[in-house]
Amino acid sequence: MKARFSKAGRTGKGIMARLVMKFGGTSVADIARIKNVAQHVKREVDAGHQVAVVVSAMAGTTNQLVAWTREISPLHDAREYDTVVATGEQVTSGLLAIALQDIGVNARSWQGWQIPVKTDSAHGAARIADIDGARLIERLEQGQVAVVAGFQGVAPDNRVATLGRGGSDTSAVALAAALEADRCDIYTDVDGVYTTDPRIVPRAQRLSRISYEEMLEMASLGAKVLQVRSVELAMVYGVRTFVRSSFDDPLAPELVSANHPTGTLICDEDEIVEKKVVSGIAYSKDEAEISLRRVADKPGVAAA
Ligand code: ADP
Ligand code: ASP
Ligand code: MG
Repeated sequence: MKARFSKAGRTGKGIMARLVMKFGGTSVADIARIKNVAQHVKREVDAGHQVAVVVSAMAGTTNQLVAWTREISPLHDAREYDTVVATGEQVTSGLLAIALQDIGVNARSWQGWQIPVKTDSAHGAARIADIDGARLIERLEQGQVAVVAGFQGVAPDNRVATLGRGGSDTSAVALAAALEADRCDIYTDVDGVYTTDPRIVPRAQRLSRISYEEMLEMASLGAKVLQVRSVELAMVYGVRTFVRSSFDDPLAPELVSANHPTGTLICDEDEIVEKKVVSGIAYSKDEAEISLRRVADKPGVAAA
């Protein structure tokens, strides 16, 4: 079933842009990094934009939470797994809201159930079914920054559900679609999408633009810079998605949104002037190939 994202439309006047800014685990790894994120957000607010922020858990937190559920019982209830692992994002959303308030930015945290972000019932690997953006848009139009806990929503059983590892990317893109945002900025620990993982191949080159289709292919083949589902949603809803670094100086004048010198825009193929034959190489460590020789060329034999 195709996801349905309720769109509440725009009523505000004189808005420069509506942005969703997503910050991953390393970007919110400690209090200093969260304060740095607050400065990135303040820069966009000061430029006159409406901003919804999506945060991940602090680096390492989700791994620890997952490990605890496994340690207590290897075959645990998926609903209780979600209760545990969704907490990482709740912490960061509250901390970032406090950091923003501390520097004079009007901000409020939101958990998935409060928006609500409705999911299907696949606890642990849920898909977003619908986001009602109306309440958030009301706040954005009043000039309040919404700090949304990524990775989580509420399932039909009225319990918290998580979206699978790396799911905050999907929260961000889905929210951008529901809010009709002008852009979804994915801030991470690299300054864009590279021809291959730059941490493994230092000679990899940053792509300034990549089409939805090619990004989907790279993500499905293992490039974990974006969760696969987030790229699918970006493609279906035409969300302009910009991958960029949170480690840039947030106050650098060249970072004013329209003018960023680095990053990768994921967009329609039509917007890419310089098309490349090969855009990138992805890898995955958990695949094996088995070849069976001398299989008779008769229907049904291979299946048997
Ligand atoms: P976040 O915590 O911000 O969500 P992730 O660790 O999930 O960040 O994703 C960013 C990482 O993706 C980078 O540190 C990089 O090692 C890895 N990566 C894999 N393939 C690519 C690629 N083609 N381009 C950029 N980064 C890549
Ligand atoms: N915190 C979750 C994870 O580590 C979601 C995310 O970071 O995107 O998988
Ligand atoms: Mg990630």
